[in-house]
Amino acid sequence: MVGSVPVGGDAPISVQSMTNTSTADVSKTVSQIKQLESAGCELIRLAVPDMDAAKALREIRESISIPLVGDIHFDWRLAVSAMEHGAQAVRINPGNLGGQKNLSRVVAAAKQHHVPIRVGVNSGSIEKKLLHDYGYPTPENPKALIESALNNVRALEKLGFYELKVSIKSADVLTTINGYRNLSALIDYPLHIGVTEAGGLIAGTVKSSVALGILLHEGIGDTFRISLTRDPVEEIRVGYELLRSLKIRERGPELISCPTCGRTKIDLFSLAEEVERFIQTMDSPLKVAVMGCVVNGPGEAREADIGIAGGHGVGIIFKKGALFKKVAEAELLPVFMEELKKMEAERRQSLDHC
Ligand code: SF4
Repeated sequence: MVGSVPVGGDAPISVQSMTNTSTADVSKTVSQIKQLESAGCELIRLAVPDMDAAKALREIRESISIPLVGDIHFDWRLAVSAMEHGAQAVRINPGNLGGQKNLSRVVAAAKQHHVPIRVGVNSGSIEKKLLHDYGYPTPENPKALIESALNNVRALEKLGFYELKVSIKSADVLTTINGYRNLSALIDYPLHIGVTEAGGLIAGTVKSSVALGILLHEGIGDTFRISLTRDPVEEIRVGYELLRSLKIRERGPELISCPTCGRTKIDLFSLAEEVERFIQTMDSPLKVAVMGCVVNGPGEAREADIGIAGGHGVGIIFKKGALFKKVAEAELLPVFMEELKKMEAERRQSLDHC
């Protein structure tokens, strides 16, 4: 358990992110976490680079609803202080805390505060000896990553600590896939999966989706972060689309929209963008179609819970498979949004009656 969120076993695959505000800036950090919560973030990790950040955790935790994970490197005192100030889990690389004595201090605090530890190993910070023995991790030979994680797990087990999850991150997709495949055959702890330093929205989404998609489809991974050089809210959106595409979890509506072609006679890009922005505020797992023309449009729009098929300066709205309304292009977006709002309200009402 990380706070109230179960990780591992039959628990839902949890979607997490990391803030990019200064942790010591409580109001900015809380405001970002609130946005992440609304997007569906279930665990939030915060960098703890100094004591001011560690001390800020208490106030931040009191203002948010999801469990808070402290991310600590090098200094055992920061890990202990983060737990004293309310961190509900810590991510450490036990190998870079300066020795067994310091690690045992962190473990003592974790036991005292009932805080689980994520052993977080990264390709970029593997111990020199392991790099010397096994070489830099590659898809064919991810051994240095795996050995580093196993050594750290053993070090914690020796201290009688078992509330663990493990990650071995690489910026390379194939190394990530092979590394986790191998690791999952060797240990039974929950795995946090992800591609580190994956890049911007397009490259990061593609790399993360390929690596995590394959792993999750094979049943490997218990929680993940999509790492993007972007607003972390985008990480959560990509995360849920990934889970939806694998039919693992659903959150909010699904948008089906066509790429447009020479048949499109309405401004479909703007329409689809506006609809996409709007449905991000909705919870209902509706299928929403926005299609450019009457060739495939009505078919897709009919299959969806609600959909638009564009015509010449007009749009045809379908609901639950039946033609609902023909609307002039200028009126299309407001009329469509009104219907979406009604459907969301109806769903809320039916849930209230349950
Ligand atoms: S739905 Fe119509 S407009 Fe959209 S890509 Fe297909 S044929 Fe073209």
